[in-house]
Amino acid sequence: MDLERLDAVLVDLGEPSYRTRQVWDWAARGGPGYEAMTNVPASLRERLAEAVPFSTLTLEEESQSRDGTVKALFRTSDGHPVESVLMRYRDGRRSLCVSSQSGCPLTCSFCATGAMRFGRNLTPSEILDQALHFRRLERLDHCVFMGMGEPMLNLDHVLEAARRLPDVGIAHRRTTISTVGWLPGLRRFVDEVEEPIRLALSLHAPDDELRSRIMPVNDRYPIADVIAACRRSFERRRRRVFVEYVMLAGVNDGAEQARRLAALLGREAFTVNLIPYNPTGLYDGSSRGAIASFKAVLGRAGIPTTVRLTRGRDIAAACGQLAAAPRTRSRTTATA
Ligand code: SAH
Repeated sequence: MDLERLDAVLVDLGEPSYRTRQVWDWAARGGPGYEAMTNVPASLRERLAEAVPFSTLTLEEESQSRDGTVKALFRTSDGHPVESVLMRYRDGRRSLCVSSQSGCPLTCSFCATGAMRFGRNLTPSEILDQALHFRRLERLDHCVFMGMGEPMLNLDHVLEAARRLPDVGIAHRRTTISTVGWLPGLRRFVDEVEEPIRLALSLHAPDDELRSRIMPVNDRYPIADVIAACRRSFERRRRRVFVEYVMLAGVNDGAEQARRLAALLGREAFTVNLIPYNPTGLYDGSSRGAIASFKAVLGRAGIPTTVRLTRGRDIAAACGQLAAAPRTRSRTTATA
């Protein structure tokens, strides 16, 4: 729901100022539409339904993975594709992965989003409407800004959306913003954001030569500067920064590279999350054995390390696979 427009329409209609909050509270708690807002006068509900579309996004397609993951493909009102993913875990956790941009202007070599056309930054309402769509299905408790786009290129809108997530049921401590290390945004995030929102860095290589080869953005913002900003985040907030590291066979998964990574990160400020590569074309994923050995080296160096559970690969909903492909080979459920 376009919250600015909602506000403007309510002011225009001479409504009391608490109305915006009333309407938002219903939407944030998963209300299905204006008709459900029983403490809002019926005549006003009708006018709102005409003047302010309930969502800024139109659902185009929804796919369900064998593992329970759901991927939604939306369109903005001006036609840009946006994808979001709901991950369901056995322990009951419900984690939402949202997009901050339609497409992505960066061109990381292993990521399918970078290969599609870049559209534009999403508005705060377009980010929140991804969450509200899934909130209407079920309760959510975690949110990661790990869908399409680079959040630090759209930081103001990302923060505006993130700050409202507690209303949707997602605490700041359970919200994570992931970045390639886009320094202008990252520095602002580190120095200005007071909320305990978590930070993740897509690092993927222990040295500049390799990182620049697989992530061109590294030429602009090299590892030392990015790591220094993340370390400052740890010092300010006392919360470890997640380091994401996609495991590419023969590229970044060697024992020597694990040792260099350990030396770069140190024991204190980071937790490493190794990501099994989801095929997008160029690379082969590391074997399970290679991932285990890499993890062991980091473990011996005293760095907490986990391996990310792969979710939604069969519907192209896994990390790096969001490319708004018109049709996946998946089962498609009815659209809401
Ligand atoms: N642009 C931000 C937000 C996207 S997060 C960022 O890069 O951090 C998406 C995560 O999935 C990033 O860590 C990204 O590097 C990773 N990823 C990209 N392509 C992947 C692939 N093919 N397999 C596994 N992970 C991938």
